[in-house]
Amino acid sequence: MSSQTLNQFLTDNLAALREQGLYNDIDTVESPNGPIIKINGKEQINLSSNNYLGLATDERLKKAALDAVSEWGVGAGAVRTINGTLDLHIKLEEKLAEFKGTEAAISYQSGFNCNMAAISAVMDKNDAILSDELNHASIIDGCRLSKAKIIRVNHSDMDDLRQKAKEARESGQYNKIMVITDGVFSMDGDIAKLPEIIEIAEEFDLISYVDDAHGSGVLGKGAGTVKHFGLQDKVDFQIGTLSKAIGVVGGYVAGKKDLIDWLKVRSRPFLFSTAVTPADAAAATKAIELLMESTELHDRLWENGNYLKKGLKALGFNIGDSETPITPCIIGDEKTTQDFSKRLYEEGVYAKSIVFPTVPKGTGRVRNMPTAAHTKDMLDEAIAIYEKVGKEMGVI
Ligand code: PMP
Repeated sequence: MSSQTLNQFLTDNLAALREQGLYNDIDTVESPNGPIIKINGKEQINLSSNNYLGLATDERLKKAALDAVSEWGVGAGAVRTINGTLDLHIKLEEKLAEFKGTEAAISYQSGFNCNMAAISAVMDKNDAILSDELNHASIIDGCRLSKAKIIRVNHSDMDDLRQKAKEARESGQYNKIMVITDGVFSMDGDIAKLPEIIEIAEEFDLISYVDDAHGSGVLGKGAGTVKHFGLQDKVDFQIGTLSKAIGVVGGYVAGKKDLIDWLKVRSRPFLFSTAVTPADAAAATKAIELLMESTELHDRLWENGNYLKKGLKALGFNIGDSETPITPCIIGDEKTTQDFSKRLYEEGVYAKSIVFPTVPKGTGRVRNMPTAAHTKDMLDEAIAIYEKVGKEMGVI
């Protein structure tokens, strides 16, 4: 029998969440996560995945994974530091370093635990971290875990960053100071102002940390935001995930050899959690090889992103100021945004609503993530459904 206190806690809090409309009922997808997905037996145009390049269902990655299972089995068998480091993990890390233009790379089981691992391996209670207020939850948790002083910086506000960096440095209170940012912010599709951030980092001797989960495969001809700005030699930590454009699962840090060597002995998920499976490592390596060989998928992603943006804008939707294929459709009021997304779903478009507290009050939006795998016909159909629902609800 479970504890009365726990039962009471769960009953009260679940009821409160449901009452406030904040309990997220999770959809089950009954098909591969491609441009069309089946939910509740009904096919939908999928505009909600991070599978930017369509690689999650790519035949070449599937073959690489199947071959790896045949040769290596289904599990790595141990943590990396005992005997779970397979030849496949080394190949993946060598490819990642080549892809990112760094001396070395280390891979993790997810992007989330990569941030938990990397920040806390380097920063401690005598340090400070300047963190953009819109940074991803895994960055926030990684910062908290490190016990460093967290200094929130207004979103992409370079004056605020400079001022806070100056204050932190001049206070003499901290040993190390880090500046940490997403490369691409996934709610609006805007790009971090890396050239200015690096300039400030150089001026105040800050460690620089860029989580490029949404920029890799998308910017810099695929190599990411840091490459997009030509800053490969200036950024200390280039973080990425293998779960979005790469289409598989896992995370990584690319950087100088000493940094990677340090992470191999000090980052706890690397030391204490089993390595990713042979299939995942092989499929991710294949994906990176494909990205390095050709920009075809990257180019198609941009073409599709621009096409969708143009179509929605022409209809009169507010698509914000995205600088990437991420296409928010800003509706405003929270309830209308949620109803809008529901109506899209009924008509055959799967695009999730994102509302307060994830984004500021009154800026509720339906976020669209077009991919390289969408056809023009799919996008045309999605735009037509947007038009129908937009007119019906008086949004356009
Ligand atoms: N960082 C950022 C910026 C992200 O958007 C995400 C995923 N939402 C992650 C890290 C976590 O990556 P993963 O899904 O590989 O754990």
